[in-house]
Amino acid sequence: MQTDAGKTAIVVGGGVAGMSAACALAEAGLRVKLVERRGYLGGRASSYRHPGVDEVIDNCQHVLFGCCTNLIGFYQRIGVAERIHWTSTMTMIEPGGRRTQLRSSRWLPAPLHGLPSLLAAKALSREDKMALAHAFRKLMRPVPQDSTETLGAWLKRNGQTPGVIDRFWRLVIASALNGDVDVIALPYAAKVIRELFLNSAEAGSMGMSTVPLSELYSGAVQFLREHGGEVVFKASLEGAAWDEETSQWTLTTRAGEQKADFLVIALPFEGAAQLLPHMPPADGVDALAGQIGRHEHGPICSVHLWFDREISELDHAVLLDREIHWMYNKGRLQPWRKTKGSYVELVVSASQKFAALSREEAIDLALRELAEFFPEVATAKLEKAALVKEVRATFTVPPGIDAARPTATSPWPNCLLAGDWIATGWPSTMESAARSGHLAAEAVCAAIGEPRKFLNADLRPHGLMRLLR
Ligand SMILES: Cc1cc2nc3c(=O)[nH]c(=O)nc-3n(C[C@H](O)[C@H](O)[C@H](O)COP(=O)(O)OP(=O)(O)OC[C@H]3O[C@@H](n4cnc5c(N)ncnc54)[C@H](O)[C@@H]3O)c2cc1C
Repeated sequence: MQTDAGKTAIVVGGGVAGMSAACALAEAGLRVKLVERRGYLGGRASSYRHPGVDEVIDNCQHVLFGCCTNLIGFYQRIGVAERIHWTSTMTMIEPGGRRTQLRSSRWLPAPLHGLPSLLAAKALSREDKMALAHAFRKLMRPVPQDSTETLGAWLKRNGQTPGVIDRFWRLVIASALNGDVDVIALPYAAKVIRELFLNSAEAGSMGMSTVPLSELYSGAVQFLREHGGEVVFKASLEGAAWDEETSQWTLTTRAGEQKADFLVIALPFEGAAQLLPHMPPADGVDALAGQIGRHEHGPICSVHLWFDREISELDHAVLLDREIHWMYNKGRLQPWRKTKGSYVELVVSASQKFAALSREEAIDLALRELAEFFPEVATAKLEKAALVKEVRATFTVPPGIDAARPTATSPWPNCLLAGDWIATGWPSTMESAARSGHLAAEAVCAAIGEPRKFLNADLRPHGLMRLLR
């Protein structure tokens, strides 16, 4: 189906934001071109064949949660939602191997569904549990979005013990937001707590792709083609010109000129900054440049290890008190790999220190630490290893960051902004990117006089949480 007006759109940037905008617009009947600099889709959430190990790896394990309604909506649109493996169990392991399982009770209403496993947690002392229960109770009510407090200051003010700060707040929450507790804005931390631990068991369940990330997005290429659109790879956008008379954009890309009625710029904030000098002058460009200039990156590193045998029967785990934070047993999560032995990915969030290590130092440290959690590592043979450092993984969320997140509206006519850093209320995640894409697509449809709804509604809180919205 084409729009009545037969309009065309170019979406620049083939990350989750660009793909979700492009697919929504194609569904609405526009003729869409998705223009991507690289030879594959996915952006920061992609996979590729790593030459050092000759394996297809994700640039990093990406997890989603039940509350990521727009990412799930995008996966449903392109027909890949069933490729996500869901779990409601999180295993925390202490050095030495003692385990704590956090899981949802089927019998207790939200927000109490996580309480029994929290009370039984061996990794937390009695004082830690009381402190955490107090914090959860306070965060049941939403924190004003304009609060300027940091998470660290709030934790101090609310009697959080060193144990619970290290083993829960730093590890689970600060790593989800990829920042230090003393930098993260309280409203973002409160949002993560409410979505993952309080609103409902469904909202907090964790999803992981059973196929490499870029393979998920082959669904987007097919969807666009079936809806009359196309993906133009290896076509870095270098500049754009607006013709007032024809009301059309002309884009200069490495793959030649492209023309369209609408332009959606779905780039990361640093990509948008590089593009600004090559866009037409317009009121509001300086203000946009000022907003972009306030953003900073947080790094994430991942260590990929192949052993000659299984080192754990767990699919994934949270590793306490060490530099490495998360273990994903990719051989188990992706059984089609038919890995002889095992393939394990370790993730280190918000660690400037780890990111500064050399390849050898990082892999040695990861191996030493992994053996403290899984004794089999000491006797297993390491077959091969890869280190991936993403120093520009996410944008950080310090207090006041919302003022630096523009809406989809841009300074130029018929041009919309998307990307995880746009004002979605969500931290730097695939969900924020998908939301921004859906918002941009809604704005284009509204502009051509054929309004459509693409933004998927939030999950409704369950139980007592319904009363506290
Ligand atoms: C290591 C790591 C781990 C992460 N873990 C998680 C996680 O577990 N869960 C989660 O939800 N999120 C996670 N994230 C964050 C998530 O990947 C991002 O928030 C999301 O993918 C951003 O999508 P985007 O489309 O906004 O931007 P991007 O993914 O950056 O996409 C932008 C695209 O634009 C292209 N591009 C750039 N410049 C040009 C140009 N001039 N012309 C044409 N194309 C261009 C790029 O190649 C890219 O494909 C992680 C990120 C990293 C790096």
